Amino acid sequence: MADQIPSVPVPVLARSAHNRIGHRRGNPDWVQSAWDDSTSRVLVLSAAATVATRSGASLELATPSEVTVEGDRVLLGEAAGTVYFAVLSYTGSATAGLDDDWQGLRQLADSLSDLELGLLTSATALQAWHQRHTRCPRCGAVTEVSQSGWSRTCPVDGSEHFPRTDPAVIMLVRDDQDRCLLARSPLWPPGRLSVLAGFVEAGESAEAAVIREVGEEVGIAVANVRYVASQPHPFPASLMLGFTADAIGDTTLVPDDDEIAEAGWFTREEVRRARDWGQETATDTGVLRALPPTMSIARQLIDSWIAEQP
Ligand SMILES: [Zn+2]
Repeated sequence: MADQIPSVPVPVLARSAHNRIGHRRGNPDWVQSAWDDSTSRVLVLSAAATVATRSGASLELATPSEVTVEGDRVLLGEAAGTVYFAVLSYTGSATAGLDDDWQGLRQLADSLSDLELGLLTSATALQAWHQRHTRCPRCGAVTEVSQSGWSRTCPVDGSEHFPRTDPAVIMLVRDDQDRCLLARSPLWPPGRLSVLAGFVEAGESAEAAVIREVGEEVGIAVANVRYVASQPHPFPASLMLGFTADAIGDTTLVPDDDEIAEAGWFTREEVRRARDWGQETATDTGVLRALPPTMSIARQLIDSWIAEQP
């Protein structure tokens, strides 16, 4: 098991099918002519990061001339000869004049195509960044949108600023009895467990963050830290880096009171029963009844582990 190369399907929010055509962003004439083309399509994102859907299952994209909402225009990319834009709205009632078919990425993730997922994930990430980063970090002046929505430029000192992506590690830890470690944040309801996760600190590698976070959160040591897959998590600005790791030494869990409400070791069968039937398993240290949603990389790590041959 220790030498196995872990693999998972492409995580849901990592799916994408468009070309980002970054070389066009700095060409306003090209971008304007694409906007004037009636075959282009526009994803309008409300202030609440929701988008119009067809019966909640696919995106309802507009033609440029149909867009009446005020907001930042972003060049998302191109696919099969169609150019895609987003218009990011920040003000007003989140869904004023909009109906119930407006939903956000969290609600839509499991039903969208790869093309729709890639467009909506980028639009959601950019909106969250523009909303929170309106001023120059050097001089405090209000910055202006540049590069067709992919950067902001300070009109005073000319500095250019790019969307933030904060790396976070998320790790499935195994013990030598073929069990995996699942834990519950105090923010989650009892019985709903997941793998451990945490932000990478300044000046730290992702692998070191895995070892540190496991130590801090449940008081055990791990080795054999292996990268598996990543996916953006634009709520608001994370990139989740998925790992597996093996527990070493004393595997008695000592949960950190502030971050972990309960933690335990669970067999594949126990985890599978919780996933498939919502069946409960209680151990000395944890009760498992439910897993994270299928759009999460946490769930992908767990599903892949269940599917592995022990
Ligand atoms: Zn400035």
